[in-house]
Amino acid sequence: MDIRFEGKRALVTGAGKGIGREIAAQLVKSGAEVVALSRTQEDLDSLKAELGCQTVLADIGDAQQALKAVEDAGPIDLLVNNAGVAIIEPFLETSLDHWDTVLNINLRAAFVVGQAVAKGMVARGTGGSIVNVSSQASQAALPGHTAYCASKAGLDHLTRMMALELGPHNIRVNAVNPTVILTPMGEKVWGDPAKGAPMLARIPLGRFGRPVHVADAVLYLLSDKADMITGVMLPVDGGYLVG
Ligand code: NAP
Repeated sequence: MDIRFEGKRALVTGAGKGIGREIAAQLVKSGAEVVALSRTQEDLDSLKAELGCQTVLADIGDAQQALKAVEDAGPIDLLVNNAGVAIIEPFLETSLDHWDTVLNINLRAAFVVGQAVAKGMVARGTGGSIVNVSSQASQAALPGHTAYCASKAGLDHLTRMMALELGPHNIRVNAVNPTVILTPMGEKVWGDPAKGAPMLARIPLGRFGRPVHVADAVLYLLSDKADMITGVMLPVDGGYLVG
């Protein structure tokens, strides 16, 4: 399937590492003009050198920084709300601070950035496409993932609300829901074989994913090939959620 984005401007949050970095690279290869947003300057410098994309430094857990970043990014046709963090601790030990950090980055930032970008799309009357990077954890309860699971469940329903209310403006909004993906986050959370092996055993395809698997699904949903698709949560999970 030939997917091209010539003439389109794309904003990718959390583009410094892992899944977001792969999405940014594939978008550039597909002809999009990419604005890569992340919170570590060295990651943005290496992205700029590799891809020649525009970069924006911001911690979007902070709503003011997120709004300023969208302003700096300029007009956007394609948005990928990808930035996310996982802080693993049991429910009884989940601190208020960590709850706020996870919810502010994984859920509130997608709302803040999504709303600001969508306002621009509506004002320009050009339509657009948005993909939120959720997780299988939005639907499955995973030990130690209270704040993370809650944030991703919220992100799925935010996706449905955005699809419902932005559809009349020809803005499509979808989510992808990956299983364990081998990124710095995936390695941190699942790298210990004692934790990784039982998760792997529950994936029918018997393997963890790579960033390219998620990026392929994201580019499809962003593209006109998915012109009639909005409000879906697309698992990229090797079948984990069937069981
Ligand atoms: P990663 O390897 O940790 O990379 C995340 C990127 O997002 C980093 O560049 C990070 O910057 C950036 N970021 C985090 N918080 C940010 C903030 N507040 N403001 C701006 N940038 C921020 O993670 P990943 O595995 O690629 O995950 C990407 C998305 O996929 C997340 O939403 C995650 O929940 C989701 N996901 C991941 C997996 C998995 O197994 N890896 C599975 C399902 C879903 P710094 O490094 O500078 O902090």
